Parts: sequence; structure tokens; C-alpha cells
Amino acid sequence: MINFEDAYKIVKNSVKTIGTERIPFMNSVNRILAEDVKSDIEMPPFDKSAVDGFACRAEDLDMSLEIIEVVQAGQTPSETVKKGQCTKIMTGAPIPDGADTVVMVEYTDTENNTVTMQRKQSKTNISYRAEDVKEGQTVLQKGILIKPQNIAVFASVGYTQVLVSKQVKVGIISTGDELTEPENKPGMSKIRNSNGYQLRAQVEAMGAKAAYYGIAKDTYDDTYEKVTKALTENDVIMLSGGVSVGEFDFVPEVLEKAGITILFDSVAVTPGKPTTFGKSENKFCFGLPGNPVSSFVQFELLAKPFLYGMMGYDFKAPEIKLPAAKDFSRKRTERKAFIPVHIVKGEVKRVEYHGSAHIHALSSADGLISFPIGVNTIKKGELIDVRQI
Ligand code: AMP
Ligand code: MG
Repeated sequence: MINFEDAYKIVKNSVKTIGTERIPFMNSVNRILAEDVKSDIEMPPFDKSAVDGFACRAEDLDMSLEIIEVVQAGQTPSETVKKGQCTKIMTGAPIPDGADTVVMVEYTDTENNTVTMQRKQSKTNISYRAEDVKEGQTVLQKGILIKPQNIAVFASVGYTQVLVSKQVKVGIISTGDELTEPENKPGMSKIRNSNGYQLRAQVEAMGAKAAYYGIAKDTYDDTYEKVTKALTENDVIMLSGGVSVGEFDFVPEVLEKAGITILFDSVAVTPGKPTTFGKSENKFCFGLPGNPVSSFVQFELLAKPFLYGMMGYDFKAPEIKLPAAKDFSRKRTERKAFIPVHIVKGEVKRVEYHGSAHIHALSSADGLISFPIGVNTIKKGELIDVRQI
């Protein structure tokens, strides 16, 4: 059995990045950017008005001003603003020559063709050319996880074909004679396969590609057949179940036979002690525990940073520090423990959690807290890191 921190290091050190591809920018959300993006223009490209108002000379603000022109966004002013004059101008329109300030329409009185200012203003209300971005400036950096707000940046610099990391392909196999697929009502001694689908969803939510290989029977042959097929067709395979020390837990044996060297098969962590990780020349395998909470948690803690790493993204789980609403305690302390919690009025509370088979506990959880080895109590009011899920 190894410590969780060592397991994490082994997994991270095994990362091999995969290739890149170019895709239309509208398809790139949730993918990892594989090159720096530079601007081909200055932004704003010209001095433009930040408000609807009157462009004039700051020194003329005490006079009544004659309106010489009206300029909409998208039009180019044709008149130069001189002493005693102004141009009516809309947000986004270019500032006319001669003007150095824009008075907001709300602060003016207009009569016929003249305008008077009601009050002094402290800003020019001009967005100056290149104040946001210079030409050639890097606007987004390689290695970011692309979000909808980045799409606006791509659009603004004309970067319509985005170089992204390819999607890691993950083959998923559920193991266990007791399993039946979700559309069936489980008979006596059976349970529904929730794990396989949870894993698929976890993989897909990261922007990776999941392929599902069904339920492997608890026989050496069936497990071997599915494992070898999935290994051929994917970069990584993930099995759930079959990794404990039960009589029908064939997964470790099958993996070795399929050419995978097991790097660890037991981690001092709960839930998820039998978590297994192995690799061959260029394929990787996670053996996740059968219980859905353990599988979910170990995917989050170990598999997710690994898969993101393969796509060139240095994933750090979002964490916030908040006070414990009550004492948290546990009896045994020889493993690092992760516990689902929720956040209520800025404090960390336990969710109802009956153990690693209690799938529903996660649906009401906002995050996980951890007890290091040797620690059995977290006191009420103590600040704890909540890892958001
Ligand atoms: P195992 O690691 O195969 O011994 O499985 C541990 C526990 O998780 C057993 O109670 C299994 O029935 C349960 N389990 C295994 N696979 C799944 C699955 N795909 N969905 C839900 N529960 C599972
Ligand atoms: Mg099993």
C-alpha cells in the first residue's frame, strides 16, 4: 500500500502528452488550447466613444455648443470639431478630429441645434486606440482550458481555427456478474451498473472521449477479451470493480497478461483503497473500485489530473477555505480520508453519507474535504479546504 501523495506523483509522472489538431473555434469550448494566440490588430482599432453623447473640446465645456454632425457606430466622422462645436456621437463610433472628450447625453440639455453641459465630468469617455491590446500581443496562452468567454477573444482577433490537444480516448469497462444495465430492473442479487455511466460522464465532462465496452463477466476470459479490445482502441482504459481481493477479482491478473505493468494496486486512502494504476509502452490503465463513490472520488483525485495532463493541461482542483460548521471526527486514521460535504451559509457541513456505495451522497455534495493520515478530528470553526466537485 502506498500513500495517496505518492500515488498522485506516480500518475502525474507517467503523463505522456498526445498530439494536436485544428478545429473550428465554435467547437473548442472545454478543449485545451495548444498554442499561444496573438492579436492581428490593435484593440480598440481607433479612438472610440464609450458612451452616447457629444464629442467636443474639453476647454469648451462651459459654452453652448453647436451640433455639426451626427455619427453612429460603424460610420466615420467627416467634420473636424472646432471651438464652440460638437458632434453627436453614439457608443462605439470613432472620435472626430479636434474632439478630446465626450459628454454623456444624460448630462446635457439640447435646444434646437445647441447643447449645454449640466455638469463637469472627470473622464474623457474615450476608449483609446490599442489601450486593451497591441498588435502581436498574446491574448490567450497555450495550455488553458477554453471557456465561452475565450470564444469572444478568438472572434475578436480572427482566430477561427483553433489548435487544440486531441481528445484523450478512454475505454470504459464495468466488471461484475451482479451488474445489469440501467434500462433493466435488477432482479434478485443484481444491481444496476451506475459506475460505468458515471465514469463516461466524468470523462466527457472533461472534454475527453469515452467509449463504453459494456459489462465484463467475472471470468478471466471475458475480462481479458474486453481489456485487450479496449486497449487497442484507446489511449487509456478504465475498469470499475474487480480490483479488490475477492475470489473473482481478475482485473490485476488480466492487466498483467495484457502487457500492463502495475505501478500500484493499493492506496492508503478512503474511499478507494484498491485503486490500481498501470501502463505499457504507450497505454495506461486505471482500475477503479466498484463502489460508485470510491470510483467517483478516485477518478477526481487521480484519473482527472492524469487525463488532463495528457491533453497538456495542468489541472488544479478548485478549492476554497471555509470554517467547519461542527466537529468532524473519525475513528481510524491510518488512511487519508475524503469526505463529501456541502456548504451552508459559508460553513462546511457533512452530507448524509453511509459509505462508498451511497451514490446519492454525492448529488447533495458541493465538495470533498480530507483528513490527513493520523488526524481524527477537525474542530468546529477550524478552516478547511473544500475541494469543489
Ligand atoms: P468489486 O470491486 O468488484 O468487489 O465491487 C465492489 C462493490 O461495488 C460491490 O458491492 C459491487 O457490487 C459494486 N459495484 C461494482 N461495479 C459496480 C458498478 N458498475 N455500478 C455500481 N456498483 C458496482
Ligand atoms: Mg466485482
